Amino acid sequence: ILTVRGLEKSYNKLRVIKGVDLDLHRGEVLAIIGPSGSGKSTLIRCLNLLEIPTAGEIAYEGRRVENRFKSRGGNIGCGELRRHVGMVFQHFNLFPHKTVLQNICEGPVAVLKEPREAVEERAMELLGKVGLLDKRDAYPNHLSGGQKQRVAIARALAMRPDVLLLDEVTSALDPELVGEVLQVIRLLANDGMTMAIVTHEMSFAADVADRVAFIDGGQIAELGTADSVIRNPASERLKSFLSRFN
Ligand code: ATP
Ligand code: MG
Repeated sequence: ILTVRGLEKSYNKLRVIKGVDLDLHRGEVLAIIGPSGSGKSTLIRCLNLLEIPTAGEIAYEGRRVENRFKSRGGNIGCGELRRHVGMVFQHFNLFPHKTVLQNICEGPVAVLKEPREAVEERAMELLGKVGLLDKRDAYPNHLSGGQKQRVAIARALAMRPDVLLLDEVTSALDPELVGEVLQVIRLLANDGMTMAIVTHEMSFAADVADRVAFIDGGQIAELGTADSVIRNPASERLKSFLSRFN
């Protein structure tokens, strides 16, 4: 569903992504692991043009991604791309002055111009899915971190994305709240949602991901099934990286 070829990203003189080739297939869960500063966030932010690649190509459903808002010809611009490719961040980024329900409905109503009633119905379904039906009228600062993150996931899903990108969505949470968020992601995986997940939760990645990419120094150092990458790492670099999580 997404293909990446020869992707490069530099900040001024700092080369952060150094020639990445990657395919994300429909229905697949890809976990992206690697040391801090290796370029994981930069890579997935490039996938929906939150960062503009310095070189290389990205295609969505075979349509070349172009650095402009509007799609034209056979190409796809970031406006349309971001409707297909949703993103959830480490720090929820909820609107503090809106209730849970309003947070979830905002995008579909304001951006997709869908009728509010239909959107609210879908929002309630999503709140059920993430286990927060009783919080529909609460404000974000009255929620725990795990609840906020589940709202953020519901908000992303309300846009009906075909792909969901998740960047360390449990890293800011207290340890006892991590499980409830991982459980929601697990549900989505079982539903067949296509996801690229940057995570430091190795046992979760090993469990849920179809494939795992190990990013090191801005390149994909290893890519394969969870069994091969996490349970039977080939390189010393990866072995030593994984040993920190035991
Ligand atoms: P972490 O596990 O800590 O989140 P990461 O693998 O996500 O790390 P990135 O955030 O992609 O790493 O950063 C890769 C490199 O790019 C780092 O050296 C970082 O300092 C640099 N970098 C990231 N964003 C910017 C920016 N906006 N401007 C300049 N340098 C940046
Ligand atoms: Mg990061």
